[in-house]
Amino acid sequence: MELSYDLRKEITEELLQDFHGKLDGGRKNVLVPTCPFCSHDGYKFAIYVGPNRNGKVFGMSNCYHCQTSYRTLKMTLTALDRKDLIPKEIEELDEDIEQDSLRLFEEELDDELVEIEMPKGYKRCYKNRYLKSRGFNADDYEYFPCGTNRGVDFKYADYVLLEIRDEGRLVGFVGRSTMSKDDIEEYNDTHRYKILRYKNSTENEFSKLIYNYDSIVAGKTTSVIICEGAFDVIALNRKLELYENKSIVPICTFGKKISQTQMYKLQCKGVEQVVLGFDNDAKETTSQVANELEKYFDVLIADIPDGVGKDWDEMDFDDIYDIFANNLKTITEFNLSK
Ligand SMILES: [Zn+2]
Repeated sequence: MELSYDLRKEITEELLQDFHGKLDGGRKNVLVPTCPFCSHDGYKFAIYVGPNRNGKVFGMSNCYHCQTSYRTLKMTLTALDRKDLIPKEIEELDEDIEQDSLRLFEEELDDELVEIEMPKGYKRCYKNRYLKSRGFNADDYEYFPCGTNRGVDFKYADYVLLEIRDEGRLVGFVGRSTMSKDDIEEYNDTHRYKILRYKNSTENEFSKLIYNYDSIVAGKTTSVIICEGAFDVIALNRKLELYENKSIVPICTFGKKISQTQMYKLQCKGVEQVVLGFDNDAKETTSQVANELEKYFDVLIADIPDGVGKDWDEMDFDDIYDIFANNLKTITEFNLSK
């Protein structure tokens, strides 16, 4: 049974007040500061207050830390020992919710990151032949800390390194070979020891990292554009001149995917809207990721048309502008156009 909008609103306000909670960016979850079940701080206990959709049910709850979860409002309030808040409309209701509504919560959420060090010899650069070939300008070197290890450690001798920061801490890096994709493929075809296009840091799993995360400012940034790779972020940022614009921030989740941890991290910063800006291949996967995101955010898809390039790095300003002005699609529109 779907509760009326007014009743949902009333209950949501009650929950916010009684549990000193706050709404997440998409206004779809009440986040409770301390989990009543494991006492973990940091707003890890969430009560879903959005409309019943995609297996999500108003009032279901989950702790991202201890994984305690309840499938309905009635069960949540009973567990919280607040049966008095159960509205009479659902008191008598027989609740037979399918087990698969718990699907979302099965993955363990772990957002702890260790601080790392850049490879030996690393020094930031403000001029680099390879990065220049990828369009880097003076601002890019400034905004997106990067450099080389100047050949000190042989392993990274022919790589540029892009720092990944999280709340100011260095938590990872992307290492990109300075050879072009085609040259690498040509070399690898004829040599026994292969050149890797990427040699990234390994201390933290990349599913827990977001590139350009620190540009998202809580309270200011309402939208993010999710790209596949760090170079897409930098290209899009440059082409749309978003350097000082904090209301919309391009980020990347490293591949055509998003993890629970990454979504949680966006929620924590109050992001409300997500524009998916993946490469224009594998549209089925884009659609799946969009459905995942829809549980927490308003989702639009930047559908890159055929013929203008496969990703942001390859596109010029006019084509990019045209997509944001005229070609942002809802999930339904995107699915219909496939
Ligand atoms: Zn907990």
